[in-house]
Amino acid sequence: MSNPSILILPGDGIGPEVMAEVRKVIDWFGANTDAKFDVSEDLVGGAAYDAHGTPLHDDTMAKAQSVDAVLLGAVGGPKYDVLDFSVKPERGLLRLRKEMDLYANLRPAQCFDALADFSSLKRDVVAGLDIMIVRELTSGIYFGEPRGIMDDNEGGRVGINTQRYTTDEIRRVARSAFELARRRGNKVCSMEKANVMESGILWREEVQWVHDNEYPDVELSHMYADAGAMQLCRWPKQFDVIVTDNLFGDLLSDAAAMLTGSLGMLPSASLGQPMENGRPKALYEPVHGSAPDIAGQGKANPIACILSFAMALRYSFDMGDKADLVERAVEKVLADGLRTADLLGEEGVAPVSTSEMGDAVIAAI
Ligand code: ATP
Ligand code: MG
Repeated sequence: MSNPSILILPGDGIGPEVMAEVRKVIDWFGANTDAKFDVSEDLVGGAAYDAHGTPLHDDTMAKAQSVDAVLLGAVGGPKYDVLDFSVKPERGLLRLRKEMDLYANLRPAQCFDALADFSSLKRDVVAGLDIMIVRELTSGIYFGEPRGIMDDNEGGRVGINTQRYTTDEIRRVARSAFELARRRGNKVCSMEKANVMESGILWREEVQWVHDNEYPDVELSHMYADAGAMQLCRWPKQFDVIVTDNLFGDLLSDAAAMLTGSLGMLPSASLGQPMENGRPKALYEPVHGSAPDIAGQGKANPIACILSFAMALRYSFDMGDKADLVERAVEKVLADGLRTADLLGEEGVAPVSTSEMGDAVIAAI
């Protein structure tokens, strides 16, 4: 059997810098364990525009469709601000998401003990936190028709968006959430506003249906999204996997991210339909952008990107033990006091560089 395949798209700004550290981690696994991957690399974003005049070449798109997982760094930068909207770097990423039909956006909120004081919440509320928000990404109020700003026929105007979810759209993202839960704490909390929204009623019924018929072994609860937001700030450790729609997920995942501290620490994944080999279509990327202000200086924190690879190990390749290894290595280097510049609050501690952090994580693995 051939090795699982990974397409690496480093992109722009700090993307290539943080991805170089991920590459070291992948190579380390290949040399020292049975986790061996066929890795190819290609251009996306501004880098692809510079080479081909398009932020995503058709050949790259075809490759992304055929591999087991895509790892992406970041796209964009001030150099490309003048470009026409149709060839902006961000369009490359949007095309990947759309054509791969990545409908489940996974944003973990994980708080490493050594960074617990970074949170705006009390240490005991966040220390050791490890939850996952699954946001529906391709439907809901951001896409529903009718939409627009129209005359209201009484001399004024009306702005309209439509929240619309079908049974299939709800069931498929619910399945993603239940699958994840089985690899984690086996608990899903579904959030909607079934008290005031028809789409919320359907959401609740369909998530319950998927649970009862396909995942009865996973614990399921339902919460109104406003109460959920409150509980997320009050005692986030009560959750394991949260599944919610596009709009509520947008808000809840940003709020959850801030429970844990720096942008340089946050990984993400976007998953789609299972492929023939049973693996979901998948793209993994750090939450942060291309950070043009620190690009090329060796200052970027590679941990968000390294943790994105750990998510790939767990959710695309069923290598949860290897993912644990990476996450515990990150925990160890932080506990040892290593900090890239973005993680420094205290005076008198010298920051380590991007590659020093990567090397330390590998040593800890
Ligand atoms: P985008 O629009 O692509 O999301 P953005 O302008 O919102 O980009 P980022 O590029 O993510 O934001 O950067 C926001 C700030 O966080 C910048 O000051 C940047 O230097 C810092 N930052 C982002 N990622 C990292 C990282 N990995 N390591 C250190 N600092 C980072
Ligand atoms: Mg941003």
